[in-house]
Amino acid sequence: MKLDALQKDRVAGVLVATAAGDALGAGYEFTYPRPDMAIDMIGGGLGPFAPGEWTDDTSMALAIAEVSASGRPIGHGEGLDAVAAQFVRWYDTHPKDIGNQTRAVLSARPTSAAAMRRHALELPGRKAGNGSLMRTAPVGIAYLHDAGACVAAAGDISALTHNDPQAIEACRLWSYAIRHAVLHGNFDGARLYLDGASDEVADFWGGLLDEAEKADTARVFDKNGWVVHALQVAWWAITHTDASGPGHLVDALEAAVRAGGDTDTTAAIAGGLLGARWGASAVPERWQQMLHGWPGYRAADLTDLASKTAARAGQGM
Ligand SMILES: [Mg+2]
Repeated sequence: MKLDALQKDRVAGVLVATAAGDALGAGYEFTYPRPDMAIDMIGGGLGPFAPGEWTDDTSMALAIAEVSASGRPIGHGEGLDAVAAQFVRWYDTHPKDIGNQTRAVLSARPTSAAAMRRHALELPGRKAGNGSLMRTAPVGIAYLHDAGACVAAAGDISALTHNDPQAIEACRLWSYAIRHAVLHGNFDGARLYLDGASDEVADFWGGLLDEAEKADTARVFDKNGWVVHALQVAWWAITHTDASGPGHLVDALEAAVRAGGDTDTTAAIAGGLLGARWGASAVPERWQQMLHGWPGYRAADLTDLASKTAARAGQGM
């Protein structure tokens, strides 16, 4: 697929702004910043992480992007098996932070996508954590040529560790919105996705987006380890900040962090869509200089990986 210069910037933005949101929120995880506190890439948090270092959210997104950049279709067959294998490879590096649900699945070191999905389904208790939504951004650029394949892959990759209807649907909606933002430069994709969904899905998720747009504060979505509140915090931050120019990206990422709770993840989720809309060029140069993380990458590597992911999209289908 031929992309213009703005679209190429937005492709890069998907990974660079995911990482920027993640690294920005990392130092505030499970805290509630006061209104007068400056928000910056301070590091710390659960790692503890170095300033500018991204966490599991971005690392797992990169695990997906690596497979897609190699030209394999990540949504099924050998490509989906390769994504599962990349998750285990990352797990074996003993990451500084990992979500409970993801750890429970990956600690069994399943050797195929089917085995991983089965393991995720058999987990007891609540299974709609935010751990698959936080890493879904690259799926939006892996299928720029095919919206249906993007949606299907987003659901199937979620199910590897988060085999739950809410987690799967959130990943479908957000990946579709990211794909749309890269192609068209707006945030309309979230609602457009629902236009084409079943009545049940459209009513449920449309109501959640409405609720986020109308809320005075994101603190009402305080269970944001849950995929639904995590998506609502991200949407709240995007829709409650000035969206008239590229400064929106920084303002909305800060707003997501200020919402508190699982701050690296809500800002990473928001970052995927904000970067898809405003491009890597909207991520401050100072942040780009600071960004780094598994597997030994910096911002320029994310740009390169995103560009390869988009360039290979459609091959091997
Ligand atoms: Mg994290």
